Amino acid sequence: MLATVDALLPLSLLEAVRDVDTPEGVLEAEFVDELRNKRLGLSDTVYSQIKRYTEAVRRNHRTPQDDAVALARLIGRRPDAEAVLRAAGRFLAREAYMTVSPVTRGALKVMPSMISKPIAFRKTRRLAQRYLNATVRRVGQYVLLEVPRSVTLGVAPGSTGCAFYESTLRELLRLLIGTTGSVEHTRCAGRGEGSCEWRADWRGIDRARTV
Ligand SMILES: [Zn+2]
Repeated sequence: MLATVDALLPLSLLEAVRDVDTPEGVLEAEFVDELRNKRLGLSDTVYSQIKRYTEAVRRNHRTPQDDAVALARLIGRRPDAEAVLRAAGRFLAREAYMTVSPVTRGALKVMPSMISKPIAFRKTRRLAQRYLNATVRRVGQYVLLEVPRSVTLGVAPGSTGCAFYESTLRELLRLLIGTTGSVEHTRCAGRGEGSCEWRADWRGIDRARTV
């Protein structure tokens, strides 16, 4: 069977490229036509792909994993690969978070952590499964995110590509729990350790929130 990813994953990669490549200053904007030739994120190709994937997300479509890998490879060749991948992770987490009902999002912010944490954990698990093809489980004081088939593995030197998943997890936890605990990349397929795994200190998150 063909491996697929939710269309939001490739969309997040493209949105990050466009965002990073969009000129900030007025001065730079004057040269936008000239920049268009140099910067992938401003190209018509990226623009039309963003349109295509946005439509796919709207229709809840999944897309071939290989297409997402090809995009990640393109990003991996850039000197700012890590920054783009981290931006993509944050984009993905925010969009995934917005699929949680407004009532639940509001409740998570006001409920005592004893009640909100199990709910936040279930949401994290569901969103990670849907958007990252990842599994989330609790082991003692930790929350573990495991990605068996990483889209960004080996797209850039070392474990640079893995920054995408780390950034997604960090942002998801920030949005759902309200703060960022430490997130460690404890196992990496790039080092021949089977799959990539990240560990967030769930107890630490709790303490930070209740203080
Ligand atoms: Zn890794």
